[in-house]
Amino acid sequence: MDLEMYADEHLGMEMPPRSRLYHLPPRSVGTLWGESLTGYINRLAWAYRGSPRVLVAQEIVPQLSGSLQIHSFAQLATFSRSSAMGMNGTGDLAVEWPTILEGLTLRPDLHLLTLRSWVGDLPSRGLLRKKPAWCSLCYTEWRKQGLSIYQPLLWMVQMVTMCLRHQIQLEDRCPHCQKYQSIITLKTTPGHCTQCHTWLGKPLDVVVEQEAIHWQEWVLHSLEDLHKEYVNAGVLPWEQFFANLAICLKEWGVCSKLAGLTGFSRDVFYLWVGRKNRSYAHSPSLETIFEFCYACNVTPLQVMKTSDTLLQVVRDETQLQQRRPSRFTRSRVDQERCLEFIQAVLDGQEVPLGAYQVARRLGYDTRLLVYHFPQECKLLTQRAQAYRKQRREKREAQVCEEVRQAGMPKAIATWHAVRRELGYES
Ligand SMILES: [Zn+2]
Ligand SMILES: [Zn+2]
Repeated sequence: MDLEMYADEHLGMEMPPRSRLYHLPPRSVGTLWGESLTGYINRLAWAYRGSPRVLVAQEIVPQLSGSLQIHSFAQLATFSRSSAMGMNGTGDLAVEWPTILEGLTLRPDLHLLTLRSWVGDLPSRGLLRKKPAWCSLCYTEWRKQGLSIYQPLLWMVQMVTMCLRHQIQLEDRCPHCQKYQSIITLKTTPGHCTQCHTWLGKPLDVVVEQEAIHWQEWVLHSLEDLHKEYVNAGVLPWEQFFANLAICLKEWGVCSKLAGLTGFSRDVFYLWVGRKNRSYAHSPSLETIFEFCYACNVTPLQVMKTSDTLLQVVRDETQLQQRRPSRFTRSRVDQERCLEFIQAVLDGQEVPLGAYQVARRLGYDTRLLVYHFPQECKLLTQRAQAYRKQRREKREAQVCEEVRQAGMPKAIATWHAVRRELGYES
């Protein structure tokens, strides 16, 4: 059914005579809801009712330059689950892939599907999520309205944790199998888990704090600000951001006031602007820059344009202060989902996992899980230990048998190999 609803969109799709692939228009390009490049590749292949990974293998891989070459389908599979995310970012992948795709589709706007058009050439460290995230209510809504399901670039940004349209947390693990999603899918239809094919439009019951909503609104607003500036000016002068910060820091007392306001240590600011007996400047990640600006109640673009706004904030004691957001605050534990999964493990529907592994699979801190489910966690750990002990004994018995059958030198080698395997030797 998912593929059918594309029919409408594709009927109106023009196909210039010399374009090798469909001239598929990217979704909402140029807006805050613009499509991601990896999402576009998935949708392009689905338009052919084909496998995105196969499309990449046939059409794009042969055109990749030396350093970005992919040599086998196995390598492509690994790439599709991990580093492919980089093509949404600001580095080399985000230059080469859109260029190749623009050539194949004859669309001039695909380079706008990467974060280069949002944050310029800021280093991509900490910019992107490692795995795709989605808003389950957006998926549901699009499906109801018969719109194509796509993956906005915004959802790939690490510091965007929420869908503001629905005021719910973005998700990054399948509610059914708990697994992360592939970036370029093998064959899964849009909106479904790339690992178990479950429909992903089922929201989790997670309560969102008002403070988090405020921070996320500010993040989106500031990102949009930067994007507009990039579209108009063609470049984002980050060096000007740090130059203006340096000007502010020269004024007496500003550094301590900024430290007080933002909670960053004074040394950090000097590191950013490349002072403090260092010959290099350390550029903070976009998220850190945003946290700094948020606490000062200025936008990154304002600081880029002039040092005055920031100085004004420091001079004006009556400025409304915003608390720096804590990026480590967790959403409330989804008790039902946890219990369901723990029960499945205890019932033997899953391999025996310890409390730590269960917490990881659920995406929570182990301490949090133990706090909420002390009895269950104890049981999980006991079961897992018993299972490991049983496996170890079985293996040891096997080895004794192998040793008995093999000749002496070989037996000794096997013995040591197994002891290493069991963790008795290193
Ligand atoms: Zn949404
Ligand atoms: Zn799944």
